[in-house]
Amino acid sequence: MEKEPLLMLPGPVPMPERVRYAMMRQAINHRSAEFGAVYADSVRVLKTVFGTANDLFVISGSGTAGMEAAVANFGRDKEIACIVNGKFGERLYKISQRYGKAHEIASAWGTPVNLAALEEQLKAGAEIVTLVHNETSAGIKNPAPEIGKLAHKYDALFVMDGITSIGGDLVESDKWGVDIAIVGSQKCLAAPAGLAAISVSSRAWERLSKNPPYYLDLAAYRKSASGKQMETPYTPAVPLFLALREACLLIEEEGLANRIARHQKMSAAVRAAAQEWGLSLFPKLDAHHTYSATVTAVSYPDGIKDDEMRALIKKMGIVIAGGQDHLKGKIFRIGSMGAVGAPEILATLAATQYALKKLGYKTHGDGVQAAAEVLG
Ligand SMILES: *Cc1c(COP(=O)(O)O)cnc(C)c1O
Repeated sequence: MEKEPLLMLPGPVPMPERVRYAMMRQAINHRSAEFGAVYADSVRVLKTVFGTANDLFVISGSGTAGMEAAVANFGRDKEIACIVNGKFGERLYKISQRYGKAHEIASAWGTPVNLAALEEQLKAGAEIVTLVHNETSAGIKNPAPEIGKLAHKYDALFVMDGITSIGGDLVESDKWGVDIAIVGSQKCLAAPAGLAAISVSSRAWERLSKNPPYYLDLAAYRKSASGKQMETPYTPAVPLFLALREACLLIEEEGLANRIARHQKMSAAVRAAAQEWGLSLFPKLDAHHTYSATVTAVSYPDGIKDDEMRALIKKMGIVIAGGQDHLKGKIFRIGSMGAVGAPEILATLAATQYALKKLGYKTHGDGVQAAAEVLG
């Protein structure tokens, strides 16, 4: 029997049937009340998921389009302090270099943000701070509330990539002082790839660049969304919007608090397994940082080859992620985003345990049993 592989990646993630079927229909006019309602439903739910009462728009483009929209609309020619402790923080830094005067606040991937260095940069006049809340490349969750406080203390805008936290973990954009937050559709929302959502505070609108980009002009998004039916400035990816609405309605039906608790439990189960196997989790934490609730990064023990291990797991129909860039071969990552529950987690951990043993690693204990104890 042919079966689709189970994607236990930090995006894309398997989509619920209702989400997939929503795309399977005849074209609809994007200048219509029907499309307006599709867009409005998504925005309503996304505002609760973002924890914001700010304006919120959906962009046709992946998460990176949302990151670029944030920097291009608010960061042009500005002093930008970019916090980098992983691949996606680095991406925000690279985008910022294209538009403004970017300053990297660097620490090694998966290690704590250097808050003292950030404060120095703010004292020196940084006008914007960029942060990746949940650094997917390293499985670390950064202290967004503290960073928001620092940004506000120095009257800087706070841009937060919540691409793998929003919809899976607790995010309170307004309470944390996030001026611009971004999510991508194919991560915790369990929608198809290709959409980004972005929220904008009134404080940010006051500082909008006078030289905005064209396709990602957020003022144009605001104007199009403010009529009696919600629209986008240009033709949106309508089938993806239809699917996103369904994904949002599923979140509403599950209840955000339940969804967050489920994500926390699934990631706790993965961590329990890794610890039972005697493997170390990759991130190095301090009192301000925690493990990600949506993706778990585990260091490979000596002698286990990444391509061999993931090939064995793939043979059993399950796909997990390796490391990116210099972490290739050093870590593996198990995503627990979206609609995942105990069946997917237990299958993934059983396959991983099998592969570790098959390749000669002597697991200390039974990680699958340890995970089941968390899930049961
Ligand atoms: C996946 C991801 C992105 C990039 O999103 P794309 O949809 O691949 O453009 C950005 N930031 C984080 C934290 C991510 O996990």
